[in-house]
Amino acid sequence: MFEPLEANHNFIEMEHKWLKYWYEKGIVDKYLHKNDKSDKYFSFLDGPITANNPMGVHHAWGRTYKDLWPKFYNLLGFKQRFQNGFDCQGLWVEVEVEKELGLKSKKDIENLVPGDRFASIAKFVDLCKNRVYRFSKIQTEQSKRLGYFADWEHSYYTMSDENNYMIWTFLKKCYENGWIYKGQESVPWCPRCQTAISQHEMLTEDYKEVVHEAVYMKFKLKTQRSNVKTKEKNKQVDYLLVWTTTPWTIPANIAVALDEDFDYSLVEVKSGERYWLATNLVKNVLGDDVKKIVKTVKGKELVGLHYEGPFDHLPAVSKVAKEYPHNFHTVFATDEKILPISLEEGTGLVHTAVSAGTEDYKLGKKLGLPMIPVIDDEANYLDGLGEFSFKNAKKHPRLILDYMEKNGFAYKIHNYKHRYPACWRCKTELVWKVAEEWYIAMDKSPLRSQKSKVKSQNQVRLGQKLNTRTLRERMIEVAKKIKWMPEFGLDRELDWLKNMHDWLISKKNRYWGLSLPIYECQKCGHFTVIGSKEELKEKAVLGWEKFEGHSPHKPYIDEVKIKCEKCGEIVSRIDDVGNPWLDAGIVPYSTIKENNQGEPLYKIDKKKWRRWFPADFITESFPGQFKNWFYALIAASTVMENEPPFKRVLGYGTLLGEDGRPMHKSWGNAIEFNEGADKIGVDVMRWMYARQNPSENMLFGYKKADEVRRQFYLMLWNIYKFFVEYANLDKFQILNSKSQRNSKLQISNLSNILDKWILSRFTWLVEFVEKSLKNFDARSAALEIERFVSDLSTWYIRRSRDRVWVNSDDINDKQAFYKTMYFILVNLSIILSPFIPFISEEMYKNLTGNESVHLESWPIIDESLYDKKLEEEMQVARKVVEAGHAKRKEIKIKVRMPLLKLNVEVDYNPDFIRKEIWAIVLDELNIKNIVVNNKLRYPEKEIALTDEELKKEGEIRDLIRQIQNKRKEMGLKPNQFIRLTIPKKFSEKKEEIARKVVAKEVIIGKNLFIEI
Ligand SMILES: [Zn+2]
Ligand SMILES: [Zn+2]
Repeated sequence: MFEPLEANHNFIEMEHKWLKYWYEKGIVDKYLHKNDKSDKYFSFLDGPITANNPMGVHHAWGRTYKDLWPKFYNLLGFKQRFQNGFDCQGLWVEVEVEKELGLKSKKDIENLVPGDRFASIAKFVDLCKNRVYRFSKIQTEQSKRLGYFADWEHSYYTMSDENNYMIWTFLKKCYENGWIYKGQESVPWCPRCQTAISQHEMLTEDYKEVVHEAVYMKFKLKTQRSNVKTKEKNKQVDYLLVWTTTPWTIPANIAVALDEDFDYSLVEVKSGERYWLATNLVKNVLGDDVKKIVKTVKGKELVGLHYEGPFDHLPAVSKVAKEYPHNFHTVFATDEKILPISLEEGTGLVHTAVSAGTEDYKLGKKLGLPMIPVIDDEANYLDGLGEFSFKNAKKHPRLILDYMEKNGFAYKIHNYKHRYPACWRCKTELVWKVAEEWYIAMDKSPLRSQKSKVKSQNQVRLGQKLNTRTLRERMIEVAKKIKWMPEFGLDRELDWLKNMHDWLISKKNRYWGLSLPIYECQKCGHFTVIGSKEELKEKAVLGWEKFEGHSPHKPYIDEVKIKCEKCGEIVSRIDDVGNPWLDAGIVPYSTIKENNQGEPLYKIDKKKWRRWFPADFITESFPGQFKNWFYALIAASTVMENEPPFKRVLGYGTLLGEDGRPMHKSWGNAIEFNEGADKIGVDVMRWMYARQNPSENMLFGYKKADEVRRQFYLMLWNIYKFFVEYANLDKFQILNSKSQRNSKLQISNLSNILDKWILSRFTWLVEFVEKSLKNFDARSAALEIERFVSDLSTWYIRRSRDRVWVNSDDINDKQAFYKTMYFILVNLSIILSPFIPFISEEMYKNLTGNESVHLESWPIIDESLYDKKLEEEMQVARKVVEAGHAKRKEIKIKVRMPLLKLNVEVDYNPDFIRKEIWAIVLDELNIKNIVVNNKLRYPEKEIALTDEELKKEGEIRDLIRQIQNKRKEMGLKPNQFIRLTIPKKFSEKKEEIARKVVAKEVIIGKNLFIEI
């Protein structure tokens, strides 16, 4: 006997029941170690989740994949590591801790312990660590709730000593290749976080549509060469009309750029002033103000003109003007590869502030232009800028605009809507600022000293070829060796790799992150990179004892000083922390450990490490990761081993609300993980993820969940319920439950064509699911399972109902049905267990009494059960049935009413279909004879019945149906007897009716009446 099922099964309670069971009875532990002795390895590498907030339902999508394949490979007998990872260091944690403490700036952090900077930083770093621990615990519990099995006791943390020191090793290798350098550049900068935002971190979603005030400015021309001089008035003053959307950068103006080949016109406006601007933009900018076009020349004619800027009187500006009289405030021809000039907006004359824009900086560098740094780390104007000094450039944009207006430098100020980048963590609008930062060079050949020692001629050639290649070239090669799913992943990665700048790896003014192991001598400028804790200890000349026992974080690490290799000066570590993507990129080297514990195998046993490297599989959401995790992994592995860090990546899209918009609390379409789990149930959620096409964005919400529950989950449950109820009624005995998995047992000597058919379907399904999952295609597997479950319910069971009816005559046939169903349900629960771990456990445990479905093995399939021809026949039969039902609907005669003959024409050969199949069709359609393509197919001899007889038969069927419905309404069990009163006209068929509706007594009366 199986455990009977309650009428109203609570699936959420069921999930909690199994969670408790798995962890209390050590099932998860047994699962993790099930294949310890196996020599087959499946290496999954987890992309660390940021341990900074509770999980969202979007995390659950990826985490379903991260559990699905390990569960599948566990069934297949592969040894695995089952390691989850947490991403810990970086600005995002700092920002949240600052928010919690109500801190506004760097100064507040450094004064957490009043008056004690060292203690303040130590406290702040500890608070960051604690936040990570707090949320990693919450995320662990949420992951467990998702039915995700992993080695939760030994998750990796990117803040661990091993991880940080392994990055040091990576950076040291870069250094030895000569790839680490300090560069000055105009970088995107967050004035709140006071740190540079690397190109990797500038995601499209952080560009916001905002309205700023833009200005058309008038720059008075100083000299007028003969070729542009106008004849009419010698004293006429002309202006360059220049547009900018970032007025705060105007004091930094150095030059005006134009396109040599464009036409530029000098235009007189109504006030009598004359402006130079691109001919194509005259109408656009000046509109009705145009009085006349004085002249038109090519841009190159204007190159070399000097002009006066609005801020020339400020000390910082005039200083630069004096130092660079030749190219200060000059008109230049642009390099269109760096700064292309638009004829869509603006004036065709572009304000160039070398210190305050990436393109400006590059153009300035190329043309040898000077620059005027104008803002500090918080975007306050620097000293030397007169009335503007120490005022905030970003918070008070009117400062500049008011001045421009008052002093006649503005032609027009207008509101301008554009996409402007914000800090990815705190959402403050970015500025551009010149800063000295540390970079990894993408396009530098490694230093010659690093050439490997090679012997043969051939090897020399090969070695040279390899050794002169730049990091960018190497990374491109490595990326191409990876299998990207979907395939466009490779193109996107290559696009990034081909176009990205050098990798900005430093973060200034921050506290919680990798301590970049760069030691730069303040005296002679020489710098070195330390590659390990051991090396630091060896080179330390001061402070080791203060650091010993602490993690390599601020402030303790900075107690350690070394000696300059060149001049002997005492040298400190640079103040910067590392780019957080370094942390996640190194994990194939730092986190692969024996039983996920102890020292990294890469360090202590490379041969063992090799068993897990490269990882077979990683999976992450695509948007962003090309620039981030995928990029960082490839960079780290290219430098460390010049090999791909993983063989295959499955990328997936973005999860949106079911209204198609991004999830937002304020829009009411956001679902928190815990809420979703306890309203939808995680089985249903997991199924939604599994059946989703990963290359498309996913719409997620309660309505979608209801559809999936109805169309698949409940159908599966009802099948299982039907089986359990009837098998219990009939006291169906499992002879040897353990052996049920083995398809050879119990399932031979099938005689019923329906059993043969469904077993063939199932055999094929198991193979298909295995193949799909091995191809990392969960969607195809899930959709095929859905089709099977639907076939099982709407055809196999539907056509088998009479076989299991309580008073059915054929006991053997009934047993065959139970055996078939049992075999399928047990094995189905096994193949479903990676997808929906809870309901499959429920089914499996009740059916087998074994310990857990998650300790099972993948079903061994008996190929002989597969009968392709039979499946084809059944498919044809079902098409005929479909056509027959459609016809009945058309002529409006219900199935209950038998019909004498079905005559169908089909466009395939019906000859190959066996009689038993036609019998099923006949039964399903309730007809007496079936004629296909003008030939009687079944029965062999045509049955002739009068209309009267057919009508009577229909009435009896109708009556039986009514009784069945009443039984259902009364909540009777299938084997519960009733006392029945039927109208006189059915008295002839009394016995038949009694048997079909399980009545122990039938009385002839006036009306239909049922009692217990
Ligand atoms: Zn910020
Ligand atoms: Zn030195």
